[in-house]
This record gives sequence, structure tokens and C-alpha cells, in this order.
Amino acid sequence: MKGVPIRVKLTAWYAAVLLAGMSLFGAGVLFGLERRLVAGVDAWLDGRVAGLSKVLEIEGGLKNPEELKTELAEFAQEMPQGELLSMTDPAGKRLLPAKGQPVFEAQPGLGQGEYRTESRGGKRYRVLRSLVRYRGAGYEVAAGASMEETEAALRMLKELLLGLIPLVLLVACLGGYWISGRALRPVDEITEAARTITVQNLSQRLTVPPAGDELSRLSQAWNETLERLEGAVGRIRQFTADASHELRTPLALIRTTAELALRRERPAGEYREALAQIEHESEKMAELTEALLELAREDAGVTAMPLTKSDVNEIVQEVGRACRGMAEERGVKLETMLAEGPAMAAAHTAGLRRLLLILVENALHHTEAGGSVILKTALNANGVKVSVADTGEGIPAEALAHVFERFFRVDGARSGRGRTGLGLSIAQGIAQAHGSELTVESEPGLGSTFTIWLKPAK
Ligand code: ADP
Repeated sequence: MKGVPIRVKLTAWYAAVLLAGMSLFGAGVLFGLERRLVAGVDAWLDGRVAGLSKVLEIEGGLKNPEELKTELAEFAQEMPQGELLSMTDPAGKRLLPAKGQPVFEAQPGLGQGEYRTESRGGKRYRVLRSLVRYRGAGYEVAAGASMEETEAALRMLKELLLGLIPLVLLVACLGGYWISGRALRPVDEITEAARTITVQNLSQRLTVPPAGDELSRLSQAWNETLERLEGAVGRIRQFTADASHELRTPLALIRTTAELALRRERPAGEYREALAQIEHESEKMAELTEALLELAREDAGVTAMPLTKSDVNEIVQEVGRACRGMAEERGVKLETMLAEGPAMAAAHTAGLRRLLLILVENALHHTEAGGSVILKTALNANGVKVSVADTGEGIPAEALAHVFERFFRVDGARSGRGRTGLGLSIAQGIAQAHGSELTVESEPGLGSTFTIWLKPAK
């Protein structure tokens, strides 16, 4: 059935089920009707035998057996199909049919009180053989009824069914084929529309059929997928544009500084100054490309971060030690407050260290001399909570939702060493690789707290 359109498959199934149903129905009707008609004939034969028994009861007292024969012959004559009656007296003498008439008897093998359908002379008969009792003696009787009409009626019904079933089947199949075609038309439309959507026109949407059925849901699901794709592609485009823009500024600075320096002969001091400027800008560029590479790796999922059972307290202490010099340089107090005992969690040691370094580095950068930064761990059943809190400038409420976005900087400043606007995006990527999320709370003027929950180690 590969490659066969659904419409044809549906119609074929429908036809097969319909044919089976109609055949069952036809066979049932034929069988039931035949039983019913034959039972009617049998009852009719019973009546015949009962009639003969009555005649025997009334006329059996006649002395002359010839008179009984005449009575019986008269009875038979008055009956429809009376010629199909035969009767012999206990001595085996024939009482019916009257002399000169063809004898209708049950064929051998038919027991007393039994009915059977027999063929004779190309015709079909229903026959009942019975024993009628009169004054202790048994009279053997055979009664017959022609089955011609019954069988003709059954034959007609059979022919009617055989003629009608294919006709009904044909009409139903054509109807089914048409209906399934109508029902599936939106699928073709969806396929056509989906084919025309490319990365260039991702904003295009499929029309959702108003029926609210499976096909509406399919179109809706498609549209939602397109929306997600459009968002993702948009972010990639934005990222590329921002990245080129970020790289362009230091590059332009390097070029103009070099050009200016080369324009005429200068004293050695000026050259040194220009080269220092160039060194500074290229360092910024190196940091930026490093950050971009890190993000690209995160996006591609190549920075696999296998989580192992790690003591978060140890990592936090390490980061604290590493940042002590920087804190001293800035005149900020850096403290670590650790949960008691080892704080075991599922973590990627290098990744978590990098995340904490970004947070502490940011906190120190945004905190005035005299302020403090606290690195803290806390334990509970949900895992280990790690937070970096500072008493710095804080983040304005309207910027809070954006700090994890790539290239987002609160002041929008593009200068300042290492301030790429990518740090928190990288940190968030690491948090996600830990199956967690980095969150922030901040009060402008009072400080900010960044928090991540690490899941318990298995
Ligand atoms: P950058 O590398 O430029 O610092 P980040 O992604 O790390 O970029 O941070 C985004 C923005 O969030 C920064 O421009 C900064 O203004 C703000 N921010 C980050 N951490 C803090 C903090 N601890 N206190 C105040 N502002 C912060």
C-alpha cells in the first residue's frame, strides 16, 4: 500500500467493510426468511394431517370402507394441492389418493413425524410423513406441499441482493471517495503552503481551517513551529549582526590608530602610545571572539557538560580565592559563606567555575570601593543553592528582564575592557546545561543577587 493516496486507502477500507457488512446482512435475511417460510409450509402440512385425522374421526365409523375412501377423496379434492395427500389404512390398503390419480408418497428414509424437502420430476416439495391414530390403529399419512412459490420468493430476494449489493457498493465507494477527497483537501493545501515557506519568508503562516478539527490543529501546530523557527532564526540573525557590529568598532579603532600613526614621522613616545592603544583594542577583540566562540559552542551543543557529583563548596572557595586579588584591587570586600559540610550536587566543575567567575567579576565591576560581594552556598532537599550578592549599583527594573540577552548592557556602553554584554548569556547557557536557571534580583542603589539551584547528585 506504499505510495497509495490516503483517499484511495480509505475508500478501499470503507468498501471492504461495507461489503462484509452487506454480505452478512444479506445472508442473515435470506437464512431467516427461508426458515420462516419453511416453518409456515410445515405448519400448513400439519394442518393437512390434522384435517385428515378429523375426517377419520367423523367418518371412521362407516361400515363400508369404500364410503370412507369417498369421503377422504372429497376432502382432498376441496383442499388446494389435495393431490399431494396419501393415506393407507392399518392393513396397508390405500385410502388416498382416489383410484386413477398419481400416488404422492414420502420417499424412503423419512421417519414418522418428519419433514423433508424432496425433488421429484424436477420440482421441489416439502413432505411430512405421519401416523394418524384412530381407535388404536395407525393410518399412515403423507402430505406434500409445493415449494415452488417459497423458493421463487427466496430466489428473487437472492437476485435482488446480488444485484443491489454491487450497486450500493459502487455508489457508496464513489461517495466515500468524494467525501474523503473533500476532507483531505486542506492537507494538500497545507502541504502546498508548507512547501513555499523558506528561511526568507518565515513570517508566512498557514491558514487555519475554522472547523477546529484535526486539520486545524495540524495547521496550528505548523504555525507554532514556524513561530519558534522564526524566533530562532531572528535571534541568530541578530546575534550575527551584533557580533559583526561589536567586532567592527575595535577593528576600526585599530585601523585608524595605525593610519594616524603612519601618516607622518612621530617621536617614539607617540608610536608607543598608538601601539598600546592597538594592543588594548586587539585584546578586547580577542576576548570578544573568545566569548562568541563560547556561545556558538553552547548553541551547537558541542560543549558537552557531563555532570558529576561535585562539592560545590570547594568550587566556590576556589573562585573566591581566584578573585581575591581583583577584589583587593577594586577595594571591595569579597566574602564566602559556605553551607556546613560538603555541598554535593550534580555539576560540571569547570563550567560552574566559569559561571561563578562571570558573576563575581560582574559583581566586583559594578560595586564601588568599600562595598562587598558575598559568595554563598545553602543546602536543602532541592539541591544546593549558590548565590553571588553585591552591594553595588544594582540593575534598573526595566533592564532586569534583559540582562541575560546577548550583547545587552545596561548602560549600553561599548567601551571598557571585557564588557561585551555576553557574560551573563554565557553564564545562563552553563546554568541551562545544569538543567537549571540563573535568576537575578536587584534593587538599584542597593545591589544585586544572582542565584542558581544545582540539583542533588544521584
Ligand atoms: P558584560 O560582559 O558587559 O558585563 P553581562 O552579560 O555580564 O555583560 O551583563 C549584562 C549587563 O548586566 C551589564 O551591562 C551590566 O550593566 C549588568 N550587570 C551584570 N551584573 C551586574 C551586577 N552585579 N550589578 C549591576 N549590574 C550588573
